Amino acid sequence: MTGLDLSKKVADRYLKREVLGEGTYGVVYKAIDTKTGQVVAIKKIRIGKQKEGVNFTALREIKLLKELKDPNIIELIDAFPHKGNLHLVFEFMETDLEAVIRDRNIFLSPADIKSYLQMTLKGLVVCHKKWVLHRDMKPNNLLIGPNGQLKLADFGLARIFGSPDRRFTHQVFARWYRAPELLFGTKQYGPAVDVWAAACIFAELLLRRPFLQGSSDIDQLGKIFAAFGTPTASQWPDMVYLPDYVEYQYVPAPPLRSLFPMASDDALDLLAKMFTYDPKNRISVQQALEHRYFSSAPLPTVPDKLPRPAPKRESHNSRTSDFNPPEGPTVLSPPRKSRRVMPEREGFEGNAYQNDKLDDHVSEVRPGLGDHASRNEQVPMSLDFSIFGARPPNRPTINSADRTHLKRKLDLEFQHPE
Ligand code: ADP
Repeated sequence: MTGLDLSKKVADRYLKREVLGEGTYGVVYKAIDTKTGQVVAIKKIRIGKQKEGVNFTALREIKLLKELKDPNIIELIDAFPHKGNLHLVFEFMETDLEAVIRDRNIFLSPADIKSYLQMTLKGLVVCHKKWVLHRDMKPNNLLIGPNGQLKLADFGLARIFGSPDRRFTHQVFARWYRAPELLFGTKQYGPAVDVWAAACIFAELLLRRPFLQGSSDIDQLGKIFAAFGTPTASQWPDMVYLPDYVEYQYVPAPPLRSLFPMASDDALDLLAKMFTYDPKNRISVQQALEHRYFSSAPLPTVPDKLPRPAPKRESHNSRTSDFNPPEGPTVLSPPRKSRRVMPEREGFEGNAYQNDKLDDHVSEVRPGLGDHASRNEQVPMSLDFSIFGARPPNRPTINSADRTHLKRKLDLEFQHPE
């Protein structure tokens, strides 16, 4: 079969090639943009299953994602409806940070770790400046391009498309990156949730395995408190007022050094500031980027020189099938994805180079991302409403009731950074 036979045309402009994998929202294809010759990844989102369909608010937010242009943010090149699916066209990326962390042939030097963390924070700061939260930061959402550039992916999708399917235990992986205020059920959260997740990723780069692997929300908090000590009222005064607050037995914090024996003093200092309990006192992404960790030796490795796995995006397999999962209880999963819960980790073994392997960190319940309301009422990019069949969209315009609702939601979901 020739390449052309394999390819199918999607909405005229894109030549569809192989399946790259199936994600939270649907299948992801490799494709060629016939206009530019660029290789792209097309995320096909089954909007039929969305509770409310893709409404005008969603379309405006997609437009906003398209405007988030930065070397450390994956580019949303286009979005178009086709055969009842919404297609989001992204630049094609070769690998992701999870694959780097997991690759046992890769040695990550302190300078390499610094570089990967710096690129993560640089992408985040751009989004936080535009009041967009990621809310689902984890290593497999940090994609890596051919020149070693790390780019944040899946920004804002949680907010736009909501939770995929709550029946499955997807949450188990993303839970490991959740901030304690989210685990205690806060309704008001801000950029600090992304800082906590970035700290978990920093820790994972140092340890070469996920740091805090809770098996339930309660267990996750237990793991956090075992690592950093049970928070006291003076450390985090608002904690006791959070909706799902439960009292934990007091445990003191072990020295951070004992958890990360190989980390430099600067790395530990930044890590501690990113892992601050009270979100109001947690370091911001901007402040983290200004931390002396990034200006002291060794300087971050230039992206081009960063170690990364050989590209392996040519097959029909997603990453989930290319290694043997560890022993452990199987988790119910949707077809075509095999997932397992990581075995419980007892204690903190330091900078061990362990054989823990994990399946993809599957996305979890993704409730509303706090972000902004764009005032731009135009239909974004190449979207048109044929996606809704002959019927007009649910909410063709934002009326005052919608506005009030949206504002209330935004007020609830997003504390503006001070
Ligand atoms: P999930 O929702 O589980 O995080 P995704 O929907 O983001 O998964 O991705 C599904 C598959 O497609 C994964 O194997 C992922 O690596 C791949 N993929 C997603 N985006 C891109 C991209 N821009 N370039 C190359 N591969 C991608």
